[in-house]
Amino acid sequence: MMEQRKGRRLILFPLPLQGHINPMLDLANILHYKGFSITLIHTNFNSPNPSNYPHFTFHSLQDGISATEASTNDVVSLLSLLNIKCAEPFKDCVRSLVSDDVSQEPVSCLISDAIFHFTQAVAESLKLPRIVLRTGGASSFVVFAAFPLLREKGYLPIQETRLEDPVVELPPLKVKDLPVINTLNPDTFHQLVENVVSATKASSGLIWNTFEDLEQSSLASLSQQFSIPMFPIGPFHKHNLAIPSRSSSLLAEDQTSIPWLNTKPPKSVVYVSFGSIAAISEREFLEIAWGLAKSEQPFLWVVRPGLVHGAEWLEPLPSGFLESLSGRGHIVKWAPQQEVLAHEAVGAFWSHNGWNSTLESVCEGVPMICSPCFSDQKVNARFVSQVWKVGLQLESGKLERGEIEKIIRKLMTREKDGDEIRVRVSELQDKADNCLKQGGTSYESLESLVSHIFSLET
Ligand code: UDP
Repeated sequence: MMEQRKGRRLILFPLPLQGHINPMLDLANILHYKGFSITLIHTNFNSPNPSNYPHFTFHSLQDGISATEASTNDVVSLLSLLNIKCAEPFKDCVRSLVSDDVSQEPVSCLISDAIFHFTQAVAESLKLPRIVLRTGGASSFVVFAAFPLLREKGYLPIQETRLEDPVVELPPLKVKDLPVINTLNPDTFHQLVENVVSATKASSGLIWNTFEDLEQSSLASLSQQFSIPMFPIGPFHKHNLAIPSRSSSLLAEDQTSIPWLNTKPPKSVVYVSFGSIAAISEREFLEIAWGLAKSEQPFLWVVRPGLVHGAEWLEPLPSGFLESLSGRGHIVKWAPQQEVLAHEAVGAFWSHNGWNSTLESVCEGVPMICSPCFSDQKVNARFVSQVWKVGLQLESGKLERGEIEKIIRKLMTREKDGDEIRVRVSELQDKADNCLKQGGTSYESLESLVSHIFSLET
């Protein structure tokens, strides 16, 4: 049953990218369920759909981002620009919401995506406590927080000759796993990371979409470095709330995915998706297509428009490619991913290892094939393959049809490697279930978060 209304309002500010909107809206639902009223401030670029959330109040910011600027081709430039362009309209918006307090419910705090670092200064100027939501994993944040050290020790900027060197301070990472992004402005990227880390340190608390049993040592290391309270209350999307959560997808979910999966045997399908931003070359696209074809396993493949550089959608595929597979392959533009991963026909997830995808796979006990593209995906992938050992990594030089066929067979067939991975991922799935039950770590951490929000009112 939903908890009693608390007469308190929270202002939430998601970063307008799919992998950030989903967890922020899940968090909004969790906190609403705990009795808080929710106001969401959002950019008009990639705006969530308010009609899916009639229980929240929405305020749209005139962010001034033009259509050309809104491209995710250079995500670093976009994020830096958002931090600049949103500053004034955001401050005006929060100021007016806070001064409306007298007639409405008092605002307890702002909860901002970590990447919107400028919101720390706004919150301080309005004397409003700010709590941060980091939508990525804790293990990759340890690495971002270590950037000054990594630069001092010469690991960054990355030198091509050192890719295979271990990063001895951060096992089991190698130099090639460091979370960098290809950008025209490497200095801007380093500045962004530094700003995010320091604004997080200055905040009143940090919420994580993760759970203790998954990232205990990374969370412990961050707690030592950051003297703010931490609340690992994930996996957000598995909290049992009274209101069934609605999709926060920016693209329409293809409804043929589930009926197609219904026709396939249990644990037979490889689900392939590289998330909302990553892009690949036409050569890589064709190697994936042929690798999937040669594996002889059924596959459901998300080819987002824009996934393949220089192509609208599927034009690079040889004509008759899917037809030649006689129903063994299905391609969609966007899938209802959580439902897909929960489907009994799915036996593996070939993923770019965005944090949400990684966590969603763990929660459904689905083993992974890891093909990280950039940033924290590289750290997540290494943890999947070498720390939790719930997947196999396809090293970046091996995106080639023969290697793809080999790795799919290794994971999907009843070979020793695949079997051991399946046992471990189902143990981790149990832990993800248990942490949300009464007395579980995420359940208790959510209780502490609610008390902490009240304690901020002085
Ligand atoms: N997603 C989805 N349908 C798709 C592909 C992805 O609903 O076809 C969702 C997925 O469930 C996840 C989010 O989009 O919640 C992607 O976030 P992630 O952190 O994995 O990657 P990003 O898109 O940020 O690179």
